[in-house]
Amino acid sequence: MLAAAFQQVRATLFPADAVERRLATGVLELGPQRGIGRIALGCPGAEKSEEGVVAVPSWPPLQGTQRAIAVEALIHGPVSRADIARRLDLSPATVTRLTRPLLDVGLLIESGPPTANGMGRPSVPLTIDAASRHFVGVKLTSGAAHGVVTDLRATVIDKGTVPLSDRSPGAVVAATADLVERMRNRVPNVMALGVSAGGVTEDRAILKSAGFLNWDDDVPLASMLSLATGLPAAIENDVAAWLEVERWFGEGRGRESFALLTMGAGVGYALAAGNTPLSPDVGVGLAGHVPLDPFGWLCPSGHRGCADAMLTSDAIAASASVALRRRLTYPEVLDLADAGNPAASATVEASARACGRLLGMIANLTLVPLIIVSGDGVELAVRHRSTVMEEFARNRHPMAHQVEVLIKQAPFTEWARGAATVAIQTYVLGR
Ligand SMILES: [Zn+2]
Repeated sequence: MLAAAFQQVRATLFPADAVERRLATGVLELGPQRGIGRIALGCPGAEKSEEGVVAVPSWPPLQGTQRAIAVEALIHGPVSRADIARRLDLSPATVTRLTRPLLDVGLLIESGPPTANGMGRPSVPLTIDAASRHFVGVKLTSGAAHGVVTDLRATVIDKGTVPLSDRSPGAVVAATADLVERMRNRVPNVMALGVSAGGVTEDRAILKSAGFLNWDDDVPLASMLSLATGLPAAIENDVAAWLEVERWFGEGRGRESFALLTMGAGVGYALAAGNTPLSPDVGVGLAGHVPLDPFGWLCPSGHRGCADAMLTSDAIAASASVALRRRLTYPEVLDLADAGNPAASATVEASARACGRLLGMIANLTLVPLIIVSGDGVELAVRHRSTVMEEFARNRHPMAHQVEVLIKQAPFTEWARGAATVAIQTYVLGR
């Protein structure tokens, strides 16, 4: 089935001999039905212009320490050469020597007021031109592909959505490619594509067990999307991708460790510890069935009071719906609780306490200084933060260090922003 789908995408998008010509020339000529002309593939730092293919300063050839310096400027810039030297355990002279060619080609730029470095003349902090390159991130759900275009620091500058009426791999790839093409027509210099989805991924290349799309087989989604869009592409679990945007550009930036808990259609959990790569088991959703309430509701797997049963939006809506004998949505349950409805209030109270217990477990077992709580169903924790934190405190030892619990609302595009960060990482790290 997959091979057929792959061939279908390929045959639809490309003239018969285009891919072979690409292998010979490094330039893929897309069929006229795509309407986007020639795209340079052989050099990811190259970009189309009116005159043809021109070169712009490229990250991928960077190696070792020079790449590490560029990544420091990307994540922490504007940052002084002295700070870079300290973070990477280098001598200031080495940093100065290695950054000079990066400044010459425009990959790094000097920005901000000069700072004294203790000896010699003051130096100007280093940063990168975030607007020089763009990246597409797409979050796949069962009903739609939600996309954003970001700059090099994952700041959203454009967005779009396409419905997924047909969930076969070939149709999902074609719809995603259409979305990417539309956004590329509006935003220049797109370097790479990142896609995130619920489910297990392998090597940022293969999507496995994507139940929400009814896919039974492993799907080489990254290569299919790369062929369909002409962009380097990567696929990552959606919670893992969100963790990466927090790690590089968000609340986790500069932190040694932190945890991320997402609430919504499911319960997602991921843990950042230094630069240790994330386990692919993030995609399995292991935190989703941690027992939290012996008197709680049932999850589809038959667990009573597990995280999935107590924290997902559908479970909360279902619990209040049973009590009130009418079908309610998750937002309606929250509003009814605010209005003092006893059944809705009891439901959100139980859910908020379960959330606090789970946060307590995370803090106690991982010893992280920060837990970020978000996701499209985080509104309950936002409105009932005092209950969540009260239960969290009950599950902590008085002598334990303070843990920052950041409960934050985020637009749905935050998922796609995580996917764009995966594209950025793939681009700047050269893998
Ligand atoms: Zn369960």
